[in-house]
Amino acid sequence: MEHQKVLIIGGGIGGLTSAIALRRKGFAVEVIERDPTWSVYGVGIIQQGNVIRAMAQLGLIDDYIEAGFGFDHVEIFIPTGQSVAKIPTPKLVPEYASNVGIGRRALHKVLGDRTIEAGANVRLGLTAEILDDDGAGVSVTFSDGSSDRYDIVIGADGLYSQTRETIFPEASRPEFTGQSVWRYNFPRPQDVTGLHAYEGKTGIGLVPLSDALMYMYVTTPEPGNPWYAKETLASSMRVKLADVPSPKIAELASSITEDAEVVYKPLEWVFLEGPWHNGRIVLLGDAVHATTPHLGQGAGMAIEDSLVLAEELAAAADCESAFTAYRARRFDRCKYIVDASKAICFGQLGKGPLIDNATATREMFMKVAEPI
Ligand SMILES: Cc1cc2nc3c(=O)[nH]c(=O)nc-3n(C[C@H](O)[C@H](O)[C@H](O)COP(=O)(O)OP(=O)(O)OC[C@H]3O[C@@H](n4cnc5c(N)ncnc54)[C@H](O)[C@@H]3O)c2cc1C
Repeated sequence: MEHQKVLIIGGGIGGLTSAIALRRKGFAVEVIERDPTWSVYGVGIIQQGNVIRAMAQLGLIDDYIEAGFGFDHVEIFIPTGQSVAKIPTPKLVPEYASNVGIGRRALHKVLGDRTIEAGANVRLGLTAEILDDDGAGVSVTFSDGSSDRYDIVIGADGLYSQTRETIFPEASRPEFTGQSVWRYNFPRPQDVTGLHAYEGKTGIGLVPLSDALMYMYVTTPEPGNPWYAKETLASSMRVKLADVPSPKIAELASSITEDAEVVYKPLEWVFLEGPWHNGRIVLLGDAVHATTPHLGQGAGMAIEDSLVLAEELAAAADCESAFTAYRARRFDRCKYIVDASKAICFGQLGKGPLIDNATATREMFMKVAEPI
């Protein structure tokens, strides 16, 4: 099916890696992104060996590694700040680190630049208002009134996917877990050279992003999904950390002062148990399997989806067999990540058994090391 014309809806992590993967296979690619400024918020993301392997397959590993901070262990702490386990993490590409912490903006720049260099056409400030699939192709009417026709449409438009709503109006919708996450950037202390994960009711992590920078995430129970006014975010985040006994965390908490720098997000998930495509339109990434971030694998799954979908589209004779093969290769792995991440979340909330973080992390590393 090479040389066919593909529309990707959503210029986020999954949309951009799809664009790069499909261009490498010879497809003509257009990406539309709703946000006219194509901006990304300013904290970071953790990515493991499977993502580093995927970035090598996408041909952008050196730019990617240079934009982040590579590390080879995860250290687990109890709330008092005592280290209880240091888990070495498997390298899947021998000459590179086994994990990367990377700023979301830095990752977006690498992926956005590479998408454009690869020859994909990126159009900003646009959504697809009508998708008319007549079996031979999809006629798309855009929000600016323009229209065009494509062989394939990929919905990579995230948790609240408009494409999912269009092709599967009855599909399950995102669910709030009862937990939220607070994030904030700090100068990186010398000793934070890997992920520091603190166990307990308030889950805390310190993630190196560069020589100069790290970010902290804090997961908190938020029954009823309260709304926090922007001008209270820094003080609210400090309050959430007030009872944490670790002196190091207390010291960091005291320097959370900028409301505009706090990134607060209620944690939601969605997983489509049924089909992932309808005719010539297929879903990918958070649009079809959005996880809570407890295993740091949501974006990893979106990136792997991109590689698998491009491979199957290049190899198959028609969309139906490509999309069926794509879902078959992705379903169990993505479901494992969503379920295992939710289990940690629900354990922290007392909605399920408390999950041992070190054990869950070890298991996840083994699973994602398997080939995609
Ligand atoms: C708090 C938190 C922490 C996380 N931490 C990690 C982590 O450490 N490691 C990890 O691997 N993953 C992490 N994730 C998950 C990760 O962010 C997502 O899995 C990943 O961003 C999914 O990529 P995506 O391309 O599917 O969706 P998105 O990144 O959401 O991109 C969707 C894009 O589509 C655009 N869009 C939306 N609607 C439309 C429309 N109608 N038309 C056109 N464009 C549209 C959006 O503007 C956006 O650019 C975390 C998630 C959360 C919530």
